[in-house]
Amino acid sequence: MIDRFLRILFPEICPVCKKPSTDHVTAPICADCWQAISSYEGPACQKCGKPLVSDVSITCGECLEDEPAFEWVRSFGLYDGALKEAISLFKYYKIKRLSRPLSEMMLKIRIPHTDAVIPVPLTKKKLRQREFNQAALFAKHIANRIGAKIILNCLIKIRDTAPQVGLNAEERRKNIKNAFGIVNKEVIQGKSVILVDDVFTTGATIRNCAKLLKKAGAGEVYAVTLAHSMRD
Ligand SMILES: [Zn+2]
Ligand SMILES: [Zn+2]
Repeated sequence: MIDRFLRILFPEICPVCKKPSTDHVTAPICADCWQAISSYEGPACQKCGKPLVSDVSITCGECLEDEPAFEWVRSFGLYDGALKEAISLFKYYKIKRLSRPLSEMMLKIRIPHTDAVIPVPLTKKKLRQREFNQAALFAKHIANRIGAKIILNCLIKIRDTAPQVGLNAEERRKNIKNAFGIVNKEVIQGKSVILVDDVFTTGATIRNCAKLLKKAGAGEVYAVTLAHSMRD
């Protein structure tokens, strides 16, 4: 209440258009910029959801070369503009109230009704630093909506990895090797799963996590992310 009152008196400046934001739900992003966030409807890889230049091919080179363990990945929008800004405000500036409107955005993806929802985990160290796992907050909303169980005690992140951007496929595989692990594999055996993450950047994380889940006995694995990085 007080928070809302203060924001009416002293509106925050929208980081996208630099105008005062009076929308308490999405502040500091203003209502105009928020409403301008749109889903990506262009051509995309049918497997990993990667935006493609044309719809001549329906599977990207990486998915053709290295068949993914997941059924498919779908993302709401492109990692750009106000959506990119909103994710960074939520994740790095800890503006947790954005969790709900961002989750609502994510729920616009046609999400399959699986047995379980699993967020891409953070290492214990990262979790302590960041105080929350953004993917887990999205996963909670999704699990509630589809009536599935959220599983947090199975897929774990063992060590932090260097950013994947700028690495080639081989380097990415090396970088991610042994970064994730599975414990309590009985909780996912035979279960269909949706993996949840905020951004699909190179896909190395989701490819790796899906592989581990399948290897541990999970049924179909799908993944959804709020944003997908732009075409390279
Ligand atoms: Zn704005
Ligand atoms: Zn692909």
